[in-house]
Amino acid sequence: MITYFYVEPENVGKDSIQILGDEAKHILTVLRYKKGEVIEVVDGKGSKYKVMITCAEKDLAECKILSKTLLENEPKVFLTLAQSIGKGMKMDWVIEKGTEIGVSSFIPLVTSRTLVQLGEEKEKDRLVRWKRVAISSMKQSLRSVLPDIQKFTSLEKLLSQIKDYDLALSGSLDKKAKRIKSLFSSKKSLKKLLVIVGPEGGFTQEEEKKLIQAGVIPVNLGKRRLRTETAGIVFCSLVFYEVKELG
Ligand code: SAM
Repeated sequence: MITYFYVEPENVGKDSIQILGDEAKHILTVLRYKKGEVIEVVDGKGSKYKVMITCAEKDLAECKILSKTLLENEPKVFLTLAQSIGKGMKMDWVIEKGTEIGVSSFIPLVTSRTLVQLGEEKEKDRLVRWKRVAISSMKQSLRSVLPDIQKFTSLEKLLSQIKDYDLALSGSLDKKAKRIKSLFSSKKSLKKLLVIVGPEGGFTQEEEKKLIQAGVIPVNLGKRRLRTETAGIVFCSLVFYEVKELG
């Protein structure tokens, strides 16, 4: 089985890379790689390196770059998932699975019915934890780009940035809302996509109006009401299917 390792992009030099800390310990102590062995390493910025370990210390693996590949296994579209934060570990799950299927950016979304209220410190801790989850999922799914995890964002702020996207969609339980297929039938090239998912209690009517006024298209994903985290992953999977990145 192929195993990818992670190097912080700032530790990549012209001919060599340095893997530090826990990742180095994992390579050298847990997996027992030795000097002279070849491993594959991604920098989260789109580069994958085949490298040879030249120096192995407890928490440092110095490696010589043998070859470099760009953007391997990366989707051609840039999909951002604005996921209302759910209780407990739901967002961890969304980031893990979303990274696997090809999401490029996550926005932890705060709406009026969002139940989770964290202070500034806890929000920072979550972002650190979610980055770790994304790194692990990037390696597992053989990606080379680490999805960006944006700061906690209010719906108002998100709506003020809608113009940055070629297409913005929101999950709606209204059976008359559009279906995914109808939105991807035209030949228009859509590169930057946004998917917005409501919280456990759904969007308020006021928020639904604001979404439409801002140019967001409500989309119904099917007859069954999905949990917020399921809706996020199903929605992104269907979009990736339509743009031929899944299936
Ligand atoms: N009681 C809430 C309501 O009526 O809106 C249920 C919210 S649902 C658990 C959480 C979010 O997931 C929704 O706001 C919506 O964005 C998305 N969602 C769930 N099921 C969906 C479906 N069948 N189609 C589209 N979006 C869905």
